Amino acid sequence: MKITVIGTGYVGLVTGTCLAETGNEVVCVDIDAEKVRRMQNGEVPIYEPQLDILFERNIKAGRLIFTTSLDEGLHHGEIVFLALPTPEDEDGSADLSYILDVADKIGQKIQSYKIIVDKSTVPVGTSEKVKETIARHAKVDFDVVSNPEFLREGFAVEDFLKPERIIVGSSSERATEKMRKLYNPFVRSGNPIIIMDEKSAELTKYAANAFLATKITFMNEIANYCELVGADVDKVRIGIGSDSRIGKRFLFPGIGYGGSCFPKDVKALHKSGKDKNYDFQILESVMKVNQSQKTSLIPKIKNYFGGNLKDKKIAVWGLAFKPETDDIREAPALEVIKSLLDEGAQITAYDPEAMPNVERKLGNQIAFAASMYEAITDADALVICTEWSIFRTPDFVKMKQLLKQPALFDGRNVYDVNEIKETGFDYFSVGRI
Ligand code: NAD
Repeated sequence: MKITVIGTGYVGLVTGTCLAETGNEVVCVDIDAEKVRRMQNGEVPIYEPQLDILFERNIKAGRLIFTTSLDEGLHHGEIVFLALPTPEDEDGSADLSYILDVADKIGQKIQSYKIIVDKSTVPVGTSEKVKETIARHAKVDFDVVSNPEFLREGFAVEDFLKPERIIVGSSSERATEKMRKLYNPFVRSGNPIIIMDEKSAELTKYAANAFLATKITFMNEIANYCELVGADVDKVRIGIGSDSRIGKRFLFPGIGYGGSCFPKDVKALHKSGKDKNYDFQILESVMKVNQSQKTSLIPKIKNYFGGNLKDKKIAVWGLAFKPETDDIREAPALEVIKSLLDEGAQITAYDPEAMPNVERKLGNQIAFAASMYEAITDADALVICTEWSIFRTPDFVKMKQLLKQPALFDGRNVYDVNEIKETGFDYFSVGRI
């Protein structure tokens, strides 16, 4: 099939590449000329495991091409995916300007039947708006489909190739059949393609992200309470996770959720409720708790140093909002660093993939190390903000030699409490004493 993907970020590039992998001819359009130039030169502009292999293979096979020309993209594809940003607006709602601007241009430019597929996360009613916007100019038939994306950064390729479910919101038989045909190769193991109306599809995405953010936040509150009463959140987690109604996943406490999705999607759903005079009280609490959770290590660090962090050298391991990505949007590490800088500490950070992005954001406010061990050399303490697997079994003897004192603040519960205490570290984590 001939496919066009507009927007080549984490979602668009993975979508385009994976659709090319099943034999489709894909044209990816992006407004960022520098990014397009890099992709045309065979460079993957983001870090995402496995993406480089598929990217190279499909470019070589001529099934995946990149352009800045919307005309070229719209001339090519019968199915046109919108994988555009829907960032947080000033009032917390989703900013739909990227989607509606492109929809307006699509209306002016299309010359044959198109299925416009919204992959971005958008509030209920956006399909309608897209339809109306395109219809203002369009002289040919078109359909609008809502097809929210559920991939996780760090597992994006795996998630796209083997989705647990695909949601298609459509009121057109013709478009629905095409979507089924396009996605059938990805659900051969029997996972469902769930067809529903556009509004329900749009809400399914927000409901999923809000539920997961709530699950994490609930565990963070249980962890905070564990610290007060001397319980061990790991044991509680395993205890409740073995109940199949609760499930084992998404129960790991830490210094809060971040990333480009959960924070903005929870806010946007909350705001959509407000617009209908509905007060999502749970979401209000989730946002509040998550914000304070991000800096929940700071009092522990201050306490350790007698209340004063001035000129303390603090090493930070992990900057990305989660492992296996270079994405730092709303990363808890940034809040931790900001608080430590405000307290007068000096920061040296290390992250396997995210340092260039943080350097662009923070400049020389902090130092960057070439390795995890260089980061802790002569540092007064180490703070772990992201649980990259290379941090899981470090050389503790070497760490103790390099650090000025064996102070370890673990925001992701990477280590076993008893094992680490045997190594002689002063160890502080989340929900475990
Ligand atoms: P992103 O910021 O990584 O990528 C967006 C891309 O769109 C950029 O390359 C940008 O240059 C391009 N763009 C902007 N305006 C354009 C225009 N007018 N024409 C062509 N290209 C344009 O965003 P993302 O993380 O891929 O997210 C896209 C959408 O998918 C958002 O709604 C997001 O909430 C949703 N989503 C994201 C994830 C995720 O894990 N990142 C997962 C599921 C859903």
